[in-house]
Amino acid sequence: MEDRKQFYTKEFSLQKVAEWFEGCFVKVKFAVIIGRHTKIYPEKYKDDASTTIIIDEYQNLEDFRQQILEFLPEAVYYDRNVDDEKTHKGGQELVFDLDPENITCPIHGSLADKMKRHQGFSFCEVELNMVKREAIGLYEFLKNLFCEVIVIYSGRGFHLHVLDPKACLLSTKGRLKLARQVKQAGFQIDEWVTSGEYRLIRLPYSLNGIVSRIALPLKKDELESFDAVHDERCLPKFLGKEATF
Ligand SMILES: [Zn+2]
Repeated sequence: MEDRKQFYTKEFSLQKVAEWFEGCFVKVKFAVIIGRHTKIYPEKYKDDASTTIIIDEYQNLEDFRQQILEFLPEAVYYDRNVDDEKTHKGGQELVFDLDPENITCPIHGSLADKMKRHQGFSFCEVELNMVKREAIGLYEFLKNLFCEVIVIYSGRGFHLHVLDPKACLLSTKGRLKLARQVKQAGFQIDEWVTSGEYRLIRLPYSLNGIVSRIALPLKKDELESFDAVHDERCLPKFLGKEATF
């Protein structure tokens, strides 16, 4: 918890968060999970450690930071649903989620094999590299359909955010069709995220407290050489200089 406190006090960049939303976050809803996976939580929040807590009342981003510091969560998310109060046109940011545990590893096998050994959440460098290749492929696939696609290293796998306005306005049916198309092309995405049923997505520049990595947006030309294990931009300072997985 001291590590989380240090990160959100000194390292978490509100400016970068503001840039991510390009000043157009009129009413972004944020959410935190305090200790569902890590079982690390402030004693007073013991009963809410696994709950998704919505943060939708804040004065400004500094106030949002203060609320994070109150909960000291393992994860911070935002709600992809967009509600334009002027036009009442709803929508949702389109996101594709690639996780290393869904990769069938030549060493560790499939997710089912890993689950049998109670290692459903763990992953190795081979899987991390394979999921990076998938992220590059999926980026290229999506760039044939959309203009603005941004890749985020989530601390485990990769999230691909499609920022085109037309993507935001896709229906559930349209999203499912697209998800199936992507799966048929061989990408192992989490359909629940793309279809929009799961509305939350990890906040870029926040701390992934399960693996102690910072969620980081990457440029396309950085992806190829991106080293998730050693890239300093993903390493919170509390890990010190000897950080590895
Ligand atoms: Zn493996």
